[in-house]
Amino acid sequence: MHKELNNLPVAVIGAGPIGLSAAVHLLERGYAPIVFEAGEKAGANLDRWGHVRMFSPWAYNMDPAAVALLKQKGWNAPAASEFPTGKELLDQYVTPLASHFEIARHLNLNTRIQSVSRLNHDVLRTKERDKAPFVLRVTGPDGERDIMAQAVIDASGTYQTPNWLGIHGIPALGEVSAADSITYGIPNILGSERMHYVNKSVLVVGGGHSAFNVLQDLILLAQQCKHMRVLWGVRSASVANIVRSPANDELQERRRLELRIQELIDQGQIEVITELEIEAIHRENGKLAVQSGSHLIPFVDRIIAATGFRPDLSVLAELRTSLDPATESPTRLAPLIDPNLHSCGSVPEHGQAELSHPEPGLYILGIKSYGRAPTFLLKTGYKQVLSAVSALGTSETPANIAACSAATVTTCRG
Ligand SMILES: Cc1cc2nc3c(=O)[nH]c(=O)nc-3n(C[C@H](O)[C@H](O)[C@H](O)COP(=O)(O)OP(=O)(O)OC[C@H]3O[C@@H](n4cnc5c(N)ncnc54)[C@H](O)[C@@H]3O)c2cc1C
Repeated sequence: MHKELNNLPVAVIGAGPIGLSAAVHLLERGYAPIVFEAGEKAGANLDRWGHVRMFSPWAYNMDPAAVALLKQKGWNAPAASEFPTGKELLDQYVTPLASHFEIARHLNLNTRIQSVSRLNHDVLRTKERDKAPFVLRVTGPDGERDIMAQAVIDASGTYQTPNWLGIHGIPALGEVSAADSITYGIPNILGSERMHYVNKSVLVVGGGHSAFNVLQDLILLAQQCKHMRVLWGVRSASVANIVRSPANDELQERRRLELRIQELIDQGQIEVITELEIEAIHRENGKLAVQSGSHLIPFVDRIIAATGFRPDLSVLAELRTSLDPATESPTRLAPLIDPNLHSCGSVPEHGQAELSHPEPGLYILGIKSYGRAPTFLLKTGYKQVLSAVSALGTSETPANIAACSAATVTTCRG
């Protein structure tokens, strides 16, 4: 017998800023959330890039509904116009929210969702599918168990699944074997990971703001030690568009970073390698040799892959998702965010209609909803949550949820 769907909780995968926001909105609407977080604390992914300064200010980075909840308990809001680091966002917003008793009692830490399906239904089976609860396979401190839910919000992020260096989208030949000399993401070069970079030659790969952050920190380190060499490899034929944000950009921190990188290149502090198409990486005399067509790339000690992230969709393999084959974002959202079609800029309104799947009650929200597109901002994610949670329990068709659609604006992080 199926349990009455409405009596079941709504499962939220991930206690990052978006998963916690989902919990707040679910509570507001009378749902019982059950939040699963693989890390030992909420915001585990933020912790990994805690040293990076965000280019959106506090006012953009917090969900107004969560702020209202926090204020009931005497929490002091940070200055709206200041730009937090990832760690400051964690310490001053995410951790207080996750510790708020209304949220904390629904939060399961050190608990990973391995897979999601529908009770007695593999992905092929249609009959009475919509009436079947979701089943989440959970591993946590008490071992393995199955949890049933009436709906699932997957806000599990992408930081844990970075893109490869290889030009074909799969690992370059030798990339996996060279893993101990490659860092994916944005390492803490001036802090805990400094020893890996002091007096080393380092190749940074990637054309977006994550690479800019890494380059900026490497140059600061290079200014403190004598024998560093900083190389920057991009796929494009030139780096003429480094300063790509408009002078009146709302996100001034982003433009400041672009101007700084342009300045460092003009000063010759960063060596630029264009048309980098990494096919193979191998070791020679303790150094890394990078093969890119007929290019001659200098040997380096380390590589930093600031090449973006991709969603882990394996968890949802037994559900009927509708995902764009290129961006891996929900099909109707894809044309709005596809980097092949848009450079940075505003994205038309989107909400539940663009975020829904053939599987009613399933939403992928937050940065994971953007798949491989690099343009997600928290401000957008909070509006996604509002729209998706508002639509739960309706028949969730575009006609029914028009009123729930949320205006969203997004800009590049890359
Ligand atoms: C370096 C960097 C800088 C950024 N700067 C900005 C900025 O300036 N402004 C802005 O608006 N956005 C910025 N972003 C983008 C985005 O806002 C952040 O990535 C944000 O953390 C996304 O929130 P999220 O809740 O969607 O995902 P995450 O914060 O990644 O949270 C996902 C959570 O899910 C957990 N999880 C993963 N898998 C499972 C599982 N199977 N089971 C249970 N739990 C799981 C993870 O441990 C994690 O805690 C930046 C991103 C990066 C990487």
